[in-house]
Amino acid sequence: MTKIKTPGISGLILDEPLLWEKGKKGRRGMSIPVNDVPEAVLEETLQGQGPDFPDLSEVDVVRHYTRLSQWNFGVDTGMYPLGSCTMKYNPKINETMAATPEITSAHPMLDDEYSQGTLKIMYDLQHYLAAITGLPGVSLQPAAGAHGELTGMLIFAAYHKSHGSKRTKILIPDTAHGTNPASAALCGYKPVPVKSDSNGILNIQTVAELMDEECAGIMITNPNTLGLFETNIRKIADIVHSKGGLVYGDGANMNAVMGIIDAEKCGVDVMHLNLHKTFSTPHGGGGPGAGPVCVTEELTKFLPTPLAVKDGSSYRLKYDYPDSIGRVHGFHGNFGVLVRAYSYILSMGADNLKKVSQLAVLSAAYIKEQLKGTLPLAFNRPCMHECVFSDKLLHDDGVSTLDLAKRLIDNGYHPPTIYFPLVVPGAIMIEPTETECKEDIDQFIGVIKKIVQEAKENPELLHQAPTIAKVRRLDETKAARNPCLRG
Ligand SMILES: *Cc1c(COP(=O)(O)O)cnc(C)c1O
Repeated sequence: MTKIKTPGISGLILDEPLLWEKGKKGRRGMSIPVNDVPEAVLEETLQGQGPDFPDLSEVDVVRHYTRLSQWNFGVDTGMYPLGSCTMKYNPKINETMAATPEITSAHPMLDDEYSQGTLKIMYDLQHYLAAITGLPGVSLQPAAGAHGELTGMLIFAAYHKSHGSKRTKILIPDTAHGTNPASAALCGYKPVPVKSDSNGILNIQTVAELMDEECAGIMITNPNTLGLFETNIRKIADIVHSKGGLVYGDGANMNAVMGIIDAEKCGVDVMHLNLHKTFSTPHGGGGPGAGPVCVTEELTKFLPTPLAVKDGSSYRLKYDYPDSIGRVHGFHGNFGVLVRAYSYILSMGADNLKKVSQLAVLSAAYIKEQLKGTLPLAFNRPCMHECVFSDKLLHDDGVSTLDLAKRLIDNGYHPPTIYFPLVVPGAIMIEPTETECKEDIDQFIGVIKKIVQEAKENPELLHQAPTIAKVRRLDETKAARNPCLRG
């Protein structure tokens, strides 16, 4: 087998103690000018022990943080093929825009008259997101995808209430993200699982059998979390609507279909977008997100208020929506994330957003085709922005999906999403995104093939992986419950 080059390295990852362990009494990071005024005694109430800060030199501090930053992995370091997360490269221009002093110093409680710039951003962004989804009503308030789902479910409940009914259940496909049933349950709906068919998508007949007048509607992710397009969505939407229900679109996978599908024409009534996934905000590690909700004309009156509106040439916040579900955020949403999305959309333009989706799908389809002889595909059908493999063959070598994921770390890659969606045994879900070039994708493919070969020849190597990373294999439950932050 030819030697596969990997971006992984094994040298010069430097150890670093805590600053408290590193400090030495008397070290300083700066020189204070000689005192040229009379000394004054500090007021008694201000005297006492200062905080327990270590004494450090400038170089101690600079090296400390630089070394810690090198322990990190992110999209700025390498490919991050985490399925269902769209970990793509986020252009730095969007960071610069979000850090513009006029924006960072804007206050959400200033009068409209003094907030014309920020209101214009909100108003325009509402319009852009409406154009991208085909759904005309937009609220920018929800702070993440799951929060958008919750907002959507509150809108479902408000809609049914306005029709004099209180429905108790909601249909949720077995491939759905866990936040879908959780958001529905928070609104008091009982999630009813819908089995996907042998093609990995929703079956019209199955939905027809489950949909009744007790069901508030259905939550559909399209493309779904298997990376497959729900081709029956229109017929399914018709069935749900015919029983008085509504269709929720989980738009987390928008990166696959921007400028290509129109959610409203697919029969979707409410949809959230994950701006931090599709529209360029670095995410992960619990950082801020934004999950705006887009709705049909009919449902606009239920949106959280206020909305940004335009009168003549000036912008204002409109509160006067008597049917609104009320606020879902203290102010206007995570504004910095909204600005990044605004900047991303403007810098790309409509044609390039469409191209993003085309390239994201092309990249995933290429990986699927190149690896389908190496790992068994969960569903051997055309994929959208991500492809899902199972661990069927790895089992024969006594190796698990987790072993493969950990071995990728030794080779310089962040592991893909694993063991999700739940319907695929030992799922390996790869989402390359549009920002990886062919050479980098080829290198990734080569590394996966190399690891599968190692599984046959030296499975023990995989069981021990990662072997050259900063930390070895962790007890994942213990690591989550009892984190050790000492490095
Ligand atoms: C990421 C994701 C969500 C949840 O979004 P958050 O922004 O993480 O709350 C919901 N559904 C799908 C399909 C997702 O991939």
